[in-house]
Amino acid sequence: MKIKMDIDNVLKYDREHIWHPYTSTLDPLPVYPVKRAEGVYIELEDGRRLIDGMSSWWCAVHGYNHPVLNAAIEKQIQEMSHVMFGGFTHRPAVELAEKILSVAPAGMDKIFFCDSGSVAVEVAMKMALQYWYASGNRSKKHFLTLTKGYHGDTWNAMSVCDPVTGMHGIFQGCLPIQYFVEHPACRYGEECREEDIRPFKECLEKNQQDIAAVILEPIVQGAGGMWFYSADYLRKVRELCNRYNVLLICDEIATGFGRTGRLWGVEHAGISPDIMCIGKAVTGGYMSFAATMASEKVASGICSKDPYVFMHGPTFMGNPLACAVARASVDLILSYDLEKMIGKIEDQLKTELAPAAAYAQVEEVRVLGAIGVIQMKEPVRMGEVQAAFVREGVWVRPFGKLVYIMPPFVICPEELQRLTTALLKVVREIKA
Ligand SMILES: *Cc1c(COP(=O)(O)O)cnc(C)c1O
Repeated sequence: MKIKMDIDNVLKYDREHIWHPYTSTLDPLPVYPVKRAEGVYIELEDGRRLIDGMSSWWCAVHGYNHPVLNAAIEKQIQEMSHVMFGGFTHRPAVELAEKILSVAPAGMDKIFFCDSGSVAVEVAMKMALQYWYASGNRSKKHFLTLTKGYHGDTWNAMSVCDPVTGMHGIFQGCLPIQYFVEHPACRYGEECREEDIRPFKECLEKNQQDIAAVILEPIVQGAGGMWFYSADYLRKVRELCNRYNVLLICDEIATGFGRTGRLWGVEHAGISPDIMCIGKAVTGGYMSFAATMASEKVASGICSKDPYVFMHGPTFMGNPLACAVARASVDLILSYDLEKMIGKIEDQLKTELAPAAAYAQVEEVRVLGAIGVIQMKEPVRMGEVQAAFVREGVWVRPFGKLVYIMPPFVICPEELQRLTTALLKVVREIKA
């Protein structure tokens, strides 16, 4: 006999025993039970349908329950769900690698499959350290990054997140100490003046002996502040890394595969990193998966000296289900006319969010690609604001002062308009 918990018990059990992201167990904010999801709609257990403004944290770019992605995973599950990647390979992994590397920024030559974005960042940082170790340079053991960055929640990834929002204070003494410079004030579309890059240049100049790599999110700083900065700044970072003999790691987990209107964030600056992390949109929102790519120079450097191998290999590395569905997701992305598709979303976001800039509660409105941000003057009360959004029939999850949307790429103009209308209404009702 199959006993199905009634929904009140589901919520009660959840509240009493399950930890949600960044959530208290003593006084958790309400969670909304989801029954199913299709296209840009998320359907709650009580039948309400919400338009998705978050793409499930940048992943579900094709919408939910996509027939092509479903078919890819169903086909693969008939063959095998998993097999170890040590000593074996398989078509889903090789076909995915070939696809990604064929469109990756110039110079990306090797790919390492990971289980999640944070792991991809750990792997990138380990690659940089092993590269300098192999080259006989034993002092390059630190990383330089920008404030307001976000690179994941695992140990080393956390060490390069913004020191304030990343709560470095709690882990003081345990986290590796890294070099931070103030994030660029020069905005996307602006040129980068000498004074904008100076702190970065000086830090690199002074500490190059200690620094293995610079790690940053190209163009868009995501979860650490939703900030869009000058492509010119990124170009200068690349030049300085070359000049001071430091590797450049670009974390494209949020920007990669089209979110900014280009396939890669680095495309805005016309540069290539030495090591690059991808995740989120590559998955289509189906299976946890990410990857780290490296140049030939980095890979052969690591493997040319003792221990002659790269020291990493997770259990679920190259999982065939994840690879098969990621392959289908990448094929879909490459089938879109990204610049046109994202450009239309960007234009609509710019037009429809603009009125919010005049509200007393609002500091600033900014839009880049399929990312729309309303920065408030004061932090919002998430529980209340989230409930207000649900009442308006949309799914938006703000943090701090940032109320933002990054909808699925496939959203149509009418649905996007419902989203922006709700955004304006809820923001206007927040007490100044
Ligand atoms: C989300 C994110 C990560 C971490 O990825 P997870 O899959 O959540 O571990 C790392 N870097 C950036 C830029 C991200 O947006």
